[in-house]
Amino acid sequence: MKYIGAHVSASGGVENAPKNASEIGAKAFALFTKNQRQWKSSPLTKENIHHFRENCEKLGYQPFQILPHDSYLINLGHPEMEGLEKSREAFLDEMQRCEQLGLDRLNFHPGGSLARISDEECLLRIAESINITLDKTKVVTAVIENTAGQGSNLGFKFEHIQFIIGHVEDKSRVGICIDTCHSFAAGYDLSSEAGFKATFLHFDEVIGFKYLKGMHINDSKKGLGSRVDRHESLGKGTLGIDIFKWLMHDPRFDDMPLILETPDETIWKEEIKMLYSF
Ligand SMILES: [Zn+2]
Ligand SMILES: [Zn+2]
Repeated sequence: MKYIGAHVSASGGVENAPKNASEIGAKAFALFTKNQRQWKSSPLTKENIHHFRENCEKLGYQPFQILPHDSYLINLGHPEMEGLEKSREAFLDEMQRCEQLGLDRLNFHPGGSLARISDEECLLRIAESINITLDKTKVVTAVIENTAGQGSNLGFKFEHIQFIIGHVEDKSRVGICIDTCHSFAAGYDLSSEAGFKATFLHFDEVIGFKYLKGMHINDSKKGLGSRVDRHESLGKGTLGIDIFKWLMHDPRFDDMPLILETPDETIWKEEIKMLYSF
């Protein structure tokens, strides 16, 4: 079964996210569990946690349908100790928030070298950051998102993510989220059927579908291999609509959150309806 949703607002409290998801007919959702543009946020209150869990139960969202996203400030491969420590501390807080909410996965961008260390050194730091965090938590899986490869950000090749996973000690708690826009911008041609087949064959060989814990389903404003991360509404960008039809008919994407991060939230309801109509 397909679980489609969107990255909904949690303003006014995390407990509002499942309500916002339900209102647009979503069977999955993503959220920030704290302000994504600040290093520190106040802890979740008992009320937040209770009402989040209650709303999820009432509205039919189980943990495998929910894909929280961490703060954009965190860089787990930061070249300098101060930035690295700050990122690791914030990431641990994000993982602990997810555990408090009863969630089972946290989606994050791997990080970047800021062109000050080698790619390999940066990827090793990211893996070490994950190991440190998994040691201090019990339940939540760290879900690495593939990136568009903008600037010095790594994770735009499946091989980068395979390298990270290869250095993570507890492989039962690491996974990947594939963003269709990022993949296309990184050079994986998901706009043709042959390219779609080849990309996911390659993905399965390099990483393996057992690690796939969610998808971000976005069209792209920029072209194949542009390395620029600009999302577009489905069918309105350079990716085109066909990929979303192939996804909907492919059981390898069953039973995981499929999340819209498309720019026009007023049409999320229609985008979800359209996807189910495929
Ligand atoms: Zn994404
Ligand atoms: Zn993006």
